[in-house]
Amino acid sequence: MASNGYRNGTNKGAIKPISSSNARSSSFKSRLPPSSNHSSGSALRRTSSASFSSGAGGDGVPGRVRVAVRLRPRNAEESIADADFADCVELQPEFKRLKLRKNNWESETYEFDEVLTEFASQKRVYEVVAKPVVESVLDGYNGTVMAYGQTGTGKTFTLGQLGEEDTSARGIMVRSMEEILTNVSPGTDSVSVSYLQLYMETIHDLLDPANDNISIVEDPRTGDVSLPGATHVEIRDEQSVLELLKLGEAHRIAANTKLNTESSRSHAILMVHIKRSVIGEEASNPSETEKSSHFAKPPKPLVRKSKLVLVDLAGSERVQKSGSEGHMLEEAKSINLSLSALGKCINALAENSSHVPIRDSKLTRLLRDSFGGTARTSLIVTIGPSPRHRGETASTILFGQRAMKVENMLKIKEEFDYKSLARKLEIHMDKLIAENERQQKAFDDEVERTNLEAEKRVSEAERNFTDALEKERLKCQMEYMGSVKMLEEKMIENQRKCGCGGLTMDKCNGEGPGSSIGEDIGEVKKMLEKETHMRKEAEKEVDKLRSQLGQCTDAGAGVDAEILKLQIALEDEVLQKRKLEEEIVVLRSQMLQLTFEADQMRRCLSGGGPGNAYTGLDSPMSQVSDNGHKTPVSALFDQVGVQKVLDLLESEDANVRIHAVKVVANLAAEEANQERIVEAGGLTSLLTLLRSYEDETVRRVAAGAIANLAMNEANQELIMLQGGISLLSITASDAEDPRTLRMVAGAIANLCGNDKLQAMLRSEGGIKALLGMVRCGHPDVLSQIARGIANFAKCESRASSNGIRSGKSLLIDEGALPWIVQNATNDAAPIRRHIELALCHLAQHEVNEKDMINGGALWELVRITRDCSREDIRSLARRTLNSSPVLRAEMRRLRIEL
Ligand code: ADP
Ligand code: MG
Repeated sequence: MASNGYRNGTNKGAIKPISSSNARSSSFKSRLPPSSNHSSGSALRRTSSASFSSGAGGDGVPGRVRVAVRLRPRNAEESIADADFADCVELQPEFKRLKLRKNNWESETYEFDEVLTEFASQKRVYEVVAKPVVESVLDGYNGTVMAYGQTGTGKTFTLGQLGEEDTSARGIMVRSMEEILTNVSPGTDSVSVSYLQLYMETIHDLLDPANDNISIVEDPRTGDVSLPGATHVEIRDEQSVLELLKLGEAHRIAANTKLNTESSRSHAILMVHIKRSVIGEEASNPSETEKSSHFAKPPKPLVRKSKLVLVDLAGSERVQKSGSEGHMLEEAKSINLSLSALGKCINALAENSSHVPIRDSKLTRLLRDSFGGTARTSLIVTIGPSPRHRGETASTILFGQRAMKVENMLKIKEEFDYKSLARKLEIHMDKLIAENERQQKAFDDEVERTNLEAEKRVSEAERNFTDALEKERLKCQMEYMGSVKMLEEKMIENQRKCGCGGLTMDKCNGEGPGSSIGEDIGEVKKMLEKETHMRKEAEKEVDKLRSQLGQCTDAGAGVDAEILKLQIALEDEVLQKRKLEEEIVVLRSQMLQLTFEADQMRRCLSGGGPGNAYTGLDSPMSQVSDNGHKTPVSALFDQVGVQKVLDLLESEDANVRIHAVKVVANLAAEEANQERIVEAGGLTSLLTLLRSYEDETVRRVAAGAIANLAMNEANQELIMLQGGISLLSITASDAEDPRTLRMVAGAIANLCGNDKLQAMLRSEGGIKALLGMVRCGHPDVLSQIARGIANFAKCESRASSNGIRSGKSLLIDEGALPWIVQNATNDAAPIRRHIELALCHLAQHEVNEKDMINGGALWELVRITRDCSREDIRSLARRTLNSSPVLRAEMRRLRIEL
């Protein structure tokens, strides 16, 4: 039957058939892409990650425009006026069908996605029409819900009812906002609203009436449409939504009064902008280490921006009813323009036409994403029951049917949230800064604590050291006093024994125990007297024989045999005499030595310092008594004669040689004797002894004698000329006894103080020999080495200042610097003092500065300016440092201040 036949667009030509199976299964919800929670929807996530930067890329989800039809119940007027007539439509909601009666016997059937009867509740309408769209919007898609229909059919009722008195009457706008507010997170998401009215191709801001000509801006790249001039109100709760909608409604009424129009002639558009933060996939699963670390990357913030557009269109009847006059005509044209442009666009889209006239009106430009775009769109067409408006109703139904053919491609718009990223990075950076500060503070505290601890330990060690030193000093003092006391007692006892009140002298040469020196001397004197007596006897005998010989000659020349006999006897006597004379010299030299040793002991006991004959390496030991008289030794020396003593150096008797060399060494300590010794060939003899090394004592004493002679400048040159430095160097390298080495080092140290000998000393190995002796380690030896270095450095410095020499110090060339630096803090004061002076001399010349800085000598010089106990050395060091630009620059670099 035609009247009950299933009508679709094909029958009418313009409308394409909708398959019943498709229509039936097309519940709003089932056909939509899976609506999901924003953090778990895998399908959406895939799409979004492919197009997060602009939202323009990636595959969309197909989504046809869904259309529902809603029938308004008869109103009071219709109940009366149409009382005798049946409704022009009959709804079959269970089949989602609508029958439009043509007349009493003919009707046309249409299928919709949803058919809502006059009894449909607002809640149900919201749930089937708007809710799926709202859920999509919460997922990041754009969405549109639009009401289309003749004036008075319930568009505003469906969309804009506030339902303040009756909550069940709340329309789609209020319910959508409620749903959105329930689902967004207040901390990270934002919801803002613009409320606009489009009237006669002009956009008015319903939230700010002064703003009455808002322009549309299109992003040429993405095609996105926006209204930057419109007021955006941030929405936080439902109450503010109601207030905003009421305000918009009030402004709408006011604007319509002003424009002399009705709200049914304008389009009302509520735009809801939602911005939701999404955590990037990789950042949402941080590793364990990242979770626990302060340095974990902040999550990659993405933001999904979506827009819900709710459109309460102007009454559709105007499309047909043109022809009004004046202002009404213009208005009708404009209203026609927007609605007819919308109709044309939907027709074009429904028919897959190549050209869609979107740009023809502002409404179509605003809704470009809603039809044929990326938004999920639901259209609700409202119709009235009155048969008087059958034509309007039919046209509304046809509009809805065409819209059902429009296919959209839903896409999520997701982008980097740069602002939030910057904010998060800032927070992250602040956290790192705070952490860094905490760590720095902890580190500083630790350093301070360690420093305090170290200082405490150092001061404790210093205290302990000082205590130990003091104890040691007291112990030595006690021992010394004990020794002095003992010696004094011994001396008194000796004096008592001798009973002569003169000196009692012990042998103190350290070479074996012996009887008292006094006894020795007495014995020697006796022997001497005996020998003298014997000599005199022998001389008398010779004289007697001579006179006898004379008598014999006178008596007769014939007694040849007797004469010969006598001659032989005479020769014997001469030989005997010579022997006796030699013995006398030996005995005298022995006595000289013993006297000298006694003298030493006397000085020692009277507090004159240690009694070693060869100590005077620095300064000659004066043997002249205070009153200017010669000492007994010198007096004896005068008696014996230089030559005789020197002859004894070559005596066949080893003991005699030892005695003789000791005598010479002691005599050489006295300046007055030095010249005589040298003139008589003593230096040569001493050098010969050194060369022919046979006995350690001889060698040691000879070296001591040479050292004493080397105090004199003229002798120094002679020693060098006679190859003395080579001999001393050989001794330096093969002697082991520290006493020998001390003598050798003392001799070389004296030579080092001669300006003229510098080059020769170096070339003949003198410096090397001096430095070689540090192996011994004995403080006395080291002290002599240090003195030699100081002397040498001083001469070099003098020569450099006088312009006689240039170039780096020979000491540095010979590798002395490390030892110098190492011993600058030697515990022994004499060593330290010489080294300090040497450092000052070396630093006075620019050529040495680089080596000194590299060798650590600068630190020692700085230390000398602070720690040296001698004021003159401290100020010399300070002067030296201050006068050198290079050293000053280095100190500045090292932040050292004097
Ligand atoms: P339109 O906006 O389409 O011009 P309205 O929403 O202003 O129409 O509706 C006109 C009248 O009809 C209003 O008084 C409204 O309350 C009423 N009305 C509309 N739809 C319904 C409905 N479904 N149930 C009850 N009353 C309705
Ligand atoms: Mg209305």
